[in-house]
Amino acid sequence: MWDVIVLGGGAAGLYAGIEAARRGRRVLVIEGNRHPGEKIRISGGGRCNFTNLGISRATISERFLSENPRFALSALSRHPARAFLDRLEAAGIEWTEKALGQLFCAGSAREVVDWLVSDLRGAGAELRPSTTVGDVTRAEGGFAVATSGGTERAAKVIVALGGKPIPKMGATDRGLRIARAFGLPVVDTRAALVPLTFEGGLREEMAALAGASVEGAVRADGPAFADGLLFTHRGLSGPSVLQASSYWREGAPVEVDLAHGTDLADALAAQRQAGGRMGVATALARHMPERLAKAVIARAGIAGNLADQSNAKLSALERAARAWTVQPSGSEGYRTAEVMRGGVATDALDPRTLEARSVPGLHFVGEVVDVTGWLGGYNFQWAWASGWAAGQAV
Ligand SMILES: Cc1cc2nc3c(=O)[nH]c(=O)nc-3n(C[C@H](O)[C@H](O)[C@H](O)COP(=O)(O)OP(=O)(O)OC[C@H]3O[C@@H](n4cnc5c(N)ncnc54)[C@H](O)[C@@H]3O)c2cc1C
Repeated sequence: MWDVIVLGGGAAGLYAGIEAARRGRRVLVIEGNRHPGEKIRISGGGRCNFTNLGISRATISERFLSENPRFALSALSRHPARAFLDRLEAAGIEWTEKALGQLFCAGSAREVVDWLVSDLRGAGAELRPSTTVGDVTRAEGGFAVATSGGTERAAKVIVALGGKPIPKMGATDRGLRIARAFGLPVVDTRAALVPLTFEGGLREEMAALAGASVEGAVRADGPAFADGLLFTHRGLSGPSVLQASSYWREGAPVEVDLAHGTDLADALAAQRQAGGRMGVATALARHMPERLAKAVIARAGIAGNLADQSNAKLSALERAARAWTVQPSGSEGYRTAEVMRGGVATDALDPRTLEARSVPGLHFVGEVVDVTGWLGGYNFQWAWASGWAAGQAV
């Protein structure tokens, strides 16, 4: 009989296990993969964007999506980015800040995995890899956990089984199934931080531009995100699109601005003044890649030199470039999504302990909970903070 079994040896599970073991609990962490922390290892292009300095009381409810955006506040303010960073620095891991408060390892994401595993073992917890978790049921004194290696029992269970993205890396919906089996509500799930796909003529237009990128701004049913935008063979990707995808729902349009921050009609009018014999495509290509400029002009139905264009035509061109409304047919789905929206409903959990209100001793942490962060280190910070909070409580 263990004091605590942590299901899942990813970001949230490792962190929760460390906290619980340091507090003297007998802890078993069960992980399906041969190696724990696989998503940490591949994250941030192998550098792990492990937190974000932009997380504050003022930004949390905007930057973490949930049916109850204030739910994440308790854990995130009790174990903020700075607290994680202090530990990472104490472990001797060097880091670097990129744009928008995003902190990455200066070396490799493997350092984070190695550090967490070493702290977990150092705290006295047992890590059991290559072991699949099945059903969890109530048993005398706590819970019984069915695994591929037999049944384990514990007084308390922390479910840190992550979300559905990237099944080929071991992702399963087991965490959601455990929640449902205990009667907990689950908010509908869908792929988020994911490239958007298109059909028909739009897909052909985008495929012809595959590989082209611009600084764009993209908005679905939420804020506009200004960042890189990349055309792919199936549609749109890049950070601005991934961010907007978290707010997108099937059937809704997306607004794309291909010349973010540029007053295009004014700029083109000034170019017309300076040398009107320049072709419109050449003029627009000063603001975006040439093949994209050609595509925008074709879509706006404009041809000829700048001198031939009325102000109304230049405004129409600006609209074609900066207010392009497109309707995705879908997304690349869990195959490539970075995160899952939805999950165990926050109403069912205590925000301080992440314990199910109706099932004392059963906690849910990390991505399996209905808390989804923006791109840029937000999701790992939620995993650390929620894991920490549950680890303090068991
Ligand atoms: C390609 C990619 C890049 C990313 N980059 C970043 C980034 O740079 N910054 C950021 O903040 N976020 C990033 N994320 C998101 C981040 O990885 C997740 O939000 C985070 O890992 C969630 O932590 P978790 O512990 O809840 O889940 P996970 O880390 O997914 O851990 C869950 C664990 O449970 C195990 N498991 C699942 N089912 C079972 C089962 N039935 N039996 C046994 N074990 C099981 C899994 O193998 C996994 O190890 C990225 C995600 C992806 C896919």
